[in-house]
Amino acid sequence: MKSIFLKSTFFTLACIAVTLPMVLGTIRLLGGTIDAAAYILPIICPLLMGFPSAFYSLWQREKLKRAHEDLSRAHAQLAAAHRRLSEKASRDEMTGMLNRENFFAALDGSRRKSDRGALLIIDADHFKRINDSFGHLTGDQALLQIASAISRGVRSGDILGRIGGEEFGAFLVGASADEAKLVAERIRAEVEKLSFQPDNERSVPLTVSIGGTSCPVEANVSELMRAADKRLYEAKARGRNLAIFNDGISEAA
Ligand code: GH3
Ligand code: MG
Ligand code: MG
Repeated sequence: MKSIFLKSTFFTLACIAVTLPMVLGTIRLLGGTIDAAAYILPIICPLLMGFPSAFYSLWQREKLKRAHEDLSRAHAQLAAAHRRLSEKASRDEMTGMLNRENFFAALDGSRRKSDRGALLIIDADHFKRINDSFGHLTGDQALLQIASAISRGVRSGDILGRIGGEEFGAFLVGASADEAKLVAERIRAEVEKLSFQPDNERSVPLTVSIGGTSCPVEANVSELMRAADKRLYEAKARGRNLAIFNDGISEAA
């Protein structure tokens, strides 16, 4: 408010400074007499009209500026909330991994950027038995342990998703076939190492089977899924707790 008052005063003084010599000059040019009114009028008019209109427009401008700032702040808060919501919606609530849809979208996006990489599908073995024996809630705890073992097995930058109830996907960005085999084996071993205790007395073994494929440039996501699924099926058929990557096999000793 103070700065609006100062600006309006400055504007009014500037008007007087311009108007006064103009009026005096015009009277002289027309041969008139310069009396007190010749001085007072060019001072009073800007004071009565210039000051209020300058004050009013500066005040309106300030109000608009504030409203604009409020709007920008609200817009930034909305954008942040939107980012948080879509991040939350893209993830599986239980494990924090990407959900199925977003895993495939991320896989597709990552493959467009890099032509190397490998896809692993990891499925918990005989998981129905865990639910049947200990109940669904205990089954959830086991799933959470499996999910964190998988996270420990991959490298940072790899993409993880929960693509089914007890089925996970891992896209190993930039990995060669040899590196992918090592990662698959590391995941299998990490899960096998878990000591899952549904109650104080028992410790239940948890294992996963893994099917993997390297990703040729020309293959699309469904072809990759089919190839990895085929290996997973083989791993299950061969007795589970096994990782089969293309034609390389690693299994429990
Ligand atoms: P396989 O070794 O052949 O994969 O046997 P499986 O029992 O793991 O496979 P199946 O497809 O027969 O059963 C999957 C089980 O996983 C059944 C289902 O209730 C359980 N499951 C899926 N999602 C969840 C979940 O979110 N929580 C719990 N507790 N269980 C789940
Ligand atoms: Mg299973
Ligand atoms: Mg399954």
